[in-house]
Amino acid sequence: MLTNYVYKLQPNVTQSHEMVRWIDMLRSHYNWCLNDRISQYNQKFIQGDYCDIRTKAEACPISCFVSKNGASGEPWKQDNQNTIVPMGEYCLLPYDLNNLPYSGKTPRRSVGDIQITALPVLKVARPWYAEIDSTVLQQNVKRLDTAYENFFNGNGFPKFKNRSNFTSFTYQVGFKVSGNKIYLPKLGWMRFYDSRPIPPGFVIKAATVRKRQDGWYISVRIEDKTVPDYVPLPLSEVNKVIGCDLGIVKLIHLSDGHQIDNPKFATNKKTRRILKVRQRRVSQKKKNSNNQKRASRAVGRLHKKIADKRQAYQWEIADAIVSRKVDAIGVEHLNIAGILRRCKVKIDDNTGRFLPNGQSRKKYLNRAISDASWNELILKIDYLAAKQGKIVVKINPKNSSIECRNCGYIDKASRDNEKFICSQCGHHEHADIGAAKTIRDRVIELIEYQKVHGDCVEPADKTAKRPKKRKEKSARSTLSKRVEPGNPKSKGENPETGIQEDIA
Ligand SMILES: [Zn+2]
Repeated sequence: MLTNYVYKLQPNVTQSHEMVRWIDMLRSHYNWCLNDRISQYNQKFIQGDYCDIRTKAEACPISCFVSKNGASGEPWKQDNQNTIVPMGEYCLLPYDLNNLPYSGKTPRRSVGDIQITALPVLKVARPWYAEIDSTVLQQNVKRLDTAYENFFNGNGFPKFKNRSNFTSFTYQVGFKVSGNKIYLPKLGWMRFYDSRPIPPGFVIKAATVRKRQDGWYISVRIEDKTVPDYVPLPLSEVNKVIGCDLGIVKLIHLSDGHQIDNPKFATNKKTRRILKVRQRRVSQKKKNSNNQKRASRAVGRLHKKIADKRQAYQWEIADAIVSRKVDAIGVEHLNIAGILRRCKVKIDDNTGRFLPNGQSRKKYLNRAISDASWNELILKIDYLAAKQGKIVVKINPKNSSIECRNCGYIDKASRDNEKFICSQCGHHEHADIGAAKTIRDRVIELIEYQKVHGDCVEPADKTAKRPKKRKEKSARSTLSKRVEPGNPKSKGENPETGIQEDIA
């Protein structure tokens, strides 16, 4: 079994400064690698010269190549373990397929491998990188690999990192723990708050050091292969189900009639006020002064405190839901990014000016939704449920709150905030608890279906996901669209055929 334990570190001043420096260097290395992959993707070999297809300018030679399946640049693993070819030199040689420099028997190298092999070159050119532990540097490249992997699986394109979203580095080997001290290579022994003992039999596989607003934390990944993973209950053995409907006014409505409060940690009146005051203090201080830095640290600490409170509360209620006498918990399958998406821009055809589109109203709702952080809560419920041998079933919540539970009539007018009165038959109940019950019933329906038809088939009724309709793109959205390197879809190519489609 693999799990993570987090401890707070107590570095001394030198170590703390050193770690800040490392993070700065690693961030710039990460951004360099990302830029390298992007510019390589945009380079084409035309008439004996490399040229950037975006700017049509002469481009630097390739040092790596990004594609889903392989890499070029230094594409073949070397047969004879030669010393590493200096960067920039091997790139200049266009590969003649009949006269390959290497036999071609060995497998192609991934772009991550190429960039990892280039690390010693980096250390020669910029000696201060040699002060960083080598596994940390390697993990830094692998982090970008993971970002690309996520992208190829349908998530967003890897972003360039700044100080606020690049705050950690990872060790793969070399650390030791003794009592309340941990040894980190090239940083030395460091004390930490030994808040929970590592269970006997577990070995540390990796350690990630992270800077947060109130100090440094270390997250150790521990593994014991003899301990089995948590196995979720098979659907066919589920007997009792509870449905959860997520909301803003109340965080959760349960199908047994219970409601759980939403304390709105970041968006309640008091916190909003404190945040506003503290942010004003930052903006009123002299720019880049020590006073301003101190004031912005205070804002950061407040955000950290809010996040910590939310975490604690969510664990508490997740535990309360999971410890009920049920076998399965039905939750909504939500597309939060879709819910938070900005309203479509409206433009006056005659004047070309922007018209009100309701975004300023939606802003406050979006903040409340982010504050509730439903996805985080569902993850916690999922984790705790697996621990107790229970299962979480995600179900399509479509129409769950406007469908009559008596006659099945779907009408938006039936719902008036939390009251539900059916416009067809007059049936009335609490709208959200009704929705929770509908979710529960849909889970039961799914389970019944799978008991009859086997586990692998999904019902083709309303709970199944419908294929998405292709939306017409507005003029603005095509204008601002970025060409995303390595993504066959981003340039309007058909991913199956690789043929350019005309999307304009
Ligand atoms: Zn009805």
